[in-house]
Amino acid sequence: MNSIKLKLFLLMSAIAGANIFFAILTYSGFAEFREQRRQLELSRDLTQRLIQSENQFAGAINIHKEIRNYIPLLHPPRRSEELEKLLMAAQKGRVSETRERHQVLVKNEFEFQRHTRDQLSYLEDKTVYFGLLCIFSLLVGLVLLQIYINTAVLRPLRDLARKMNDFLHDRYTYQFSVPGSDELGRMQATFNALAQRVISNMEQLRTLDQAKSDFLSIASHELRTPLTSIKGSISLMRSGIVGTINEMADNLLNIAEQETDRLIRLINDILDLAKIEAQRASPQPEWSSMNSLVTISLQSLKGLADQAEVKLLAEAMPPLEVNMDRDRIQQVLTNLLSNAIKFSPKGGCVIVHCEINNQHQLVIEVRDQGRGIDPQDQEAIFEKFRQATSANNPLVKGTGLGLAIAKALVEQHGGDIGVRSFPGEGSTFYFTLPEWRYSSIKNLEAAA
Ligand code: ADP
Repeated sequence: MNSIKLKLFLLMSAIAGANIFFAILTYSGFAEFREQRRQLELSRDLTQRLIQSENQFAGAINIHKEIRNYIPLLHPPRRSEELEKLLMAAQKGRVSETRERHQVLVKNEFEFQRHTRDQLSYLEDKTVYFGLLCIFSLLVGLVLLQIYINTAVLRPLRDLARKMNDFLHDRYTYQFSVPGSDELGRMQATFNALAQRVISNMEQLRTLDQAKSDFLSIASHELRTPLTSIKGSISLMRSGIVGTINEMADNLLNIAEQETDRLIRLINDILDLAKIEAQRASPQPEWSSMNSLVTISLQSLKGLADQAEVKLLAEAMPPLEVNMDRDRIQQVLTNLLSNAIKFSPKGGCVIVHCEINNQHQLVIEVRDQGRGIDPQDQEAIFEKFRQATSANNPLVKGTGLGLAIAKALVEQHGGDIGVRSFPGEGSTFYFTLPEWRYSSIKNLEAAA
């Protein structure tokens, strides 16, 4: 009896059964009422004819014929029998018997009419009574059905939907009501088991991810120290302190130095990202001039730009005091600028532009005239170790971590980062700082 389907079936059968029962009673009452009314009309008709023909009855052939037609219609059969006997007596010319039977028949028919009128009023009441009962039982049945569906189906479904929604939005608590043993209860139990499995898998993944991050941090940290001394040694050898070296050896040492630099950069990026992801390095916002931050970033990359023969420009912008973690925003801007320089053609121009958009967010853009990025790569390049690799973007030596770090830093500030680009028409990387001035308002309020 623990199945909603079965309970629904029983409830609906009970409602249908009660309704059919009352409907049958109503119909039979109505059919009887109709038959009695017909008999009453027949009786009135017959009585009228009998009274009209009282004196010419014996031997009147036409009258006999008309009255004979009533015989098969009369009910109960005793009435037909009496009528038949009357006609028989009249036919045989027995005048006194005919008269006697005639009087008895008329009297009986009057009696029948009186009785039938009472019967009709009783049958009318009976039909109305059972008709109302039929409607009432239907309404009660529908209300019961509605209550049952609400409590047994809709409410548990709503509960389950709420739990699923909570789960979706990371608000899943372990406070389950004990699920029933019907279909919905089983569904709830399955969902609970599923949710617990997902949660335990997620915890396992988090532990694994933590172990991986720890391993990367430790390995990177351990690699950085020997790499720094390798780089120092190579620099010393190239400076000639340990004796003169020939051109070929210098070339080889140059390659070794560049690759060591690249490795050190990669290790620094990995360590940075690990720190940001572990939320160990939460941003330290302070009021700082955006203009000076842009100027300093451009100056620090001037050497790289000159080497690549690329011009660096900052478009005129209003003097803005911005609430931000200055070092991190500078790191974001430097990453975007160094990419723009790296991917610009000789003689190209890289422009920094700042504005406040119509949602009152501060938007910083870095535009270049490089080869652009294919649409299918535009989202992927912000993921770790991902580079644009289509035909237009042959793989360039890099760590594939610069944009992932920039993204993480911008998100720490509550902002967005993205790119607008068409292959062959350059790229515009942008990031937003939505809370650049809210803190100042909060601070002012606090001060007030
Ligand atoms: P890296 O530059 O070290 O490879 P990034 O995360 O900074 O790593 O960049 C990821 C990839 O995005 C780059 O390898 C390049 O394919 C693409 N990219 C980034 N900036 C630009 C740009 N300004 N123009 C064209 N492609 C770019």
